[in-house]
Parts: sequence; structure tokens; C-alpha cells
Amino acid sequence: MNKMTLSFLSKSENEVFARNVVAAFALPLNPTLSELSDVKTAVSEAVTNAIVHGYGTEEGWIKVECEIEGDALHITVSDSGKGIEDIEQALTPFFTTLPGEERSGMGFTIMQTFMSSFSVRSKKGEGTEVFMSKHFGARADEDAR
Ligand code: ATP
Ligand code: MG
Repeated sequence: MNKMTLSFLSKSENEVFARNVVAAFALPLNPTLSELSDVKTAVSEAVTNAIVHGYGTEEGWIKVECEIEGDALHITVSDSGKGIEDIEQALTPFFTTLPGEERSGMGFTIMQTFMSSFSVRSKKGEGTEVFMSKHFGARADEDAR
């Protein structure tokens, strides 16, 4: 078991920083390049959402917590921004509250597709927490041989 917590300001350049830190933390799990790329993409989407939707023009803290447990990596991305009023609607593919700003409404769908498990907790005016896990299954099978 291993854990780390990362806190950073909601600046767009921190998206690349955060996804690379998570990828580096996951390296002891011997991920394949494709597994690592899935994790980086999911973290990017969650962090971008916190920056763009959670805080918008404001600046605030974003926290990324990671835990390695067996062959799994658990990730929580949280912000204390504006929160989501209707989570079910937000999870619908192509739903976006920022149309015309090059948002396609696919971020949550991408996170769900690329990770083994996914959930969101949010309260309007309080913030949003995204939980994601990935099992590095193929590699664990190899090690077991
Ligand atoms: P894309 O990710 O394709 O650029 P998008 O960000 O609008 O577009 P999703 O990532 O699927 O699409 O998010 C859907 C909607 O959920 C957003 O438009 C926004 O209204 C809401 N949302 C997502 N994350 C947050 C957050 N951290 N805080 C507040 N609202 C959020
Ligand atoms: Mg998004």
C-alpha cells in the first residue's frame, strides 16, 4: 500500500503537472503504456473540469489523492468550487454547461471508459469529488505466472 496527496492552484498549466505526477506515482505498479495513458487522460479530464467548471474565473485549490492497493490505483480529484446541481445530467454524454467554449461534454464519459470504476459526489456551492480506480490487470496476470 502507498499513498500520496497533491494540492495545487486551479491554473491550466497544472493539468499537465498533475497527470504526470499521478503517472509517476503509478510506475511501481508496472503499468503498460496504454494503461498509463488511460490514467493520464482521466486525470486530465477531472482536473480540467475542476479548473474550468469548478472555479471558472476564480482561483482555488485542487487536491489529487492517490492510493495504491494491490494491483489497483485509486484516485480522488476534488475541488471546493461551485459544485454540480444535477449529477445524472452532468454524466450524460455530450451534456455541457459551457457550449461554444470548445467543450464537447465528453469528459465524464471518457473517465468512465478509461478507468475500471468511477463515481462523483458533489454539492452545489460546496465542491466536487471524483473517485476513479484502475486495476492493472494484465500485468498482474503476467506476474502471477
Ligand atoms: P469536455 O470535458 O468534453 O471538454 P465538459 O467539461 O462540459 O466538456 P464533462 O467533463 O463531461 O463535459 O462535464 C459535464 C458537465 O459537468 C460540465 O459541463 C459541468 O457543468 C459539470 N462539471 C463537471 N465537473 C465539474 C466540477 N468539478 N465542478 C462543477 N461542475 C462540473
Ligand atoms: Mg470536462
